[in-house]
Amino acid sequence: MTGNPYPLGLRLAGRRVVVVGGGAVATRRVPALLDAGADVLLVAPELTPALRAHVDARRLRWEPRRFAPDDLDGAWLVQVAVDDPVAAASVSAAAAERRIFCVRADDRAAATAWTPAVTRHGPVTVAVLGGGDPRRAMTVRDAIRDLLSLRNGTLSTPAVEEGPLPHARGGRVALVGAGPGDPELITVKGWRLLTGADVVVADRLVPGLLLDELRPDVELVDASKIPYGPSRAQEEINRILVERALAGKAVVRLKGGDPYVFGRGGEELLACAAAGVPVTVVPGVTSAISVPAAAGVPVTHRAVAHEFTVVSGHVAPDSPASLVRWEALAGLRGTLVVLMGLKNLAAIAGTLVGHGKDPATPVAVVQEGTTGAQRDLRTTLGAVAADVAAAGLRPPAVVVIGDVVTALDSPAG
Ligand code: SAH
Repeated sequence: MTGNPYPLGLRLAGRRVVVVGGGAVATRRVPALLDAGADVLLVAPELTPALRAHVDARRLRWEPRRFAPDDLDGAWLVQVAVDDPVAAASVSAAAAERRIFCVRADDRAAATAWTPAVTRHGPVTVAVLGGGDPRRAMTVRDAIRDLLSLRNGTLSTPAVEEGPLPHARGGRVALVGAGPGDPELITVKGWRLLTGADVVVADRLVPGLLLDELRPDVELVDASKIPYGPSRAQEEINRILVERALAGKAVVRLKGGDPYVFGRGGEELLACAAAGVPVTVVPGVTSAISVPAAAGVPVTHRAVAHEFTVVSGHVAPDSPASLVRWEALAGLRGTLVVLMGLKNLAAIAGTLVGHGKDPATPVAVVQEGTTGAQRDLRTTLGAVAADVAAAGLRPPAVVVIGDVVTALDSPAG
């Protein structure tokens, strides 16, 4: 095709975009489309777990079958993310007939639109096209990103000293906290290691937009896709980390929030250490503190709470497997932050009240905090279980119990 590409910023909010294919390419492309507010229709017989999570959360519509030309009716844009050239060509043909721009991950020459390499800085989006060479586009994008982020200016010395992760013989693992959901809430160090990684092993809670910017040759392992029970799956993750590092790869294990807050980071560190693999731990912004903040709740506040306690609610209070002394927590004055607590919420609230916690204690429940899909609810300890059920709130959610919930409601005098 001749002629230079003509750049545009597509405003896709509420507009239909069809994505054909449910594999790795679609997994990388969909988050940016959702971020743009597009009405995404995904057509694919099968989906990756990350895409299925979007379907389960009703962020997009899925047609579990092969593409049919009618799928494009009403669409503004189509992204082809299948590698079968015949199937891809039939999407192209249907798009051309309807005058819909068609992005082809499999064949840039056949595409009528190209996706640029992108870096986002608050309201500014920089998009780079490399004249048909995606690597050139990414190199230029990376340089612009470094300029805009001031990372070079403020951190040039450590960035140069540490360099990219060593590639030659000494592979290594970085356990990186990705933050609670907003892709800008990863640390500078975590971001730098992520962009230098050869292999990224990511959890389901990791913000999809962070993965959107990875180089296409990075091996992306979706840890939520590993098909055994939780403990076998953890062994398998440990095995992948060790094996790739011993093969000389720079491995980033990317985890939601902070790696050591209910994230099994310690187990992964021990597995790597046992195999002689060097590990760097990069803390993350934990949801335990940031998600309440995103809903206007400070976990401490002067003259209101001088302590906060973070507890997992994934084991029911009356279970013999519980390691939490809920009766003791009921006697604390300060803030109680419960992660993974929705399933057992009625039992948790009931146990706290049963041990003397005031049922009028204010409670906030925050689902998908710091993301565009954040929902939150204010209630009381006595009413929280019923209110959460009525509102249909779902995991991931943080429950905050204590007077801090209302601390910022009226401006302090
Ligand atoms: N290591 C993570 C926590 C992992 S446990 C961290 O430090 O944040 C998973 C739980 O974290 C979820 O069940 C939920 O309770 C909480 N969580 C994580 N991200 C969240 C988000 N964006 N909004 C609400 N809760 C979140």
